[in-house]
Amino acid sequence: MVENLFRLDGKVALVTGGSRGIGLMITQGLIESGAKVYITSRSAEACEKVAEGMNALGQGECVALPGDLSVVENVYALSKALSDLEPHLDILINNAGTSWGAPIEQFPEKGWDKVMDLNVKSPFFLTQALLPMLKNGASKEDPSRIIMISSVAAVSSESITAYSYGPSKAAIAQLGKMLARDLVKDHILVNTIAPGLFESKMTAYMDYDAEVKNIPVGRIGRPEDIAGLVIYLCSKAGSYMLGNYIPVDGGHLIR
Ligand code: NAP
Repeated sequence: MVENLFRLDGKVALVTGGSRGIGLMITQGLIESGAKVYITSRSAEACEKVAEGMNALGQGECVALPGDLSVVENVYALSKALSDLEPHLDILINNAGTSWGAPIEQFPEKGWDKVMDLNVKSPFFLTQALLPMLKNGASKEDPSRIIMISSVAAVSSESITAYSYGPSKAAIAQLGKMLARDLVKDHILVNTIAPGLFESKMTAYMDYDAEVKNIPVGRIGRPEDIAGLVIYLCSKAGSYMLGNYIPVDGGHLIR
């Protein structure tokens, strides 16, 4: 029963923000499971470098498809570029995200719009644009998958000056639930992952050792913690999972 339960051979995936941090952890997991993974970020150089490194693993395949997803026209351009290369898409990981922190008195409109545009608007319009590719080849037996990357910040109030970030992550979780209900008719399964603390450029300003005291398991997240959950949700093993909000946070939200 379990043979190939977690394999992704022959599957085509797109990971936004796949050039580093959590997106790169997910990319490597999908590739080592046999998938062909397109990665996108603003830096073409970073995407190419990652693709080169991933292809050296000798499993799956990684292709760089750079673009700035904060602008909807670019979202459409990326979707068009992908549809020129592939007839269908099996897995979409809406991961690219950004944050902004400032005391309430100084919090600028720019810090609100930048975060909401990339974290909420862009995943919605990317999902919309890629629907024909996600529907193509999806079936009741072998549904396509979408994963929204939210955050524990969607429900926790600890990041008190990230005024646009927390609400953006709550919005993406709600969007994931609504898409899950709507798209299941097209054999597309949508779930949301809420990471706790993982090492990345976004969290590099934090003192990880100090943060660990808030994490019951006593450590920050490792690449395999996030990759394992994504592989599960995207493989045959996760084909009965729909509309879930799943924290992967070492118990951070228990408190
Ligand atoms: P990160 O290291 O800063 O990575 C962000 C990724 O998004 C990079 O690949 C970046 O590449 C890309 N990106 C940024 N702006 C973009 C744009 N306008 N267009 C296209 N790509 C863009 O951050 P991370 O921590 O891995 O975060 C990834 C996701 O996980 C985010 O949604 C974040 O909210 C979520 N998350 C992270 C943590 C954590 O502890 N790390 C916890 C909870 C949730 P370029 O800069 O080259 O564009």
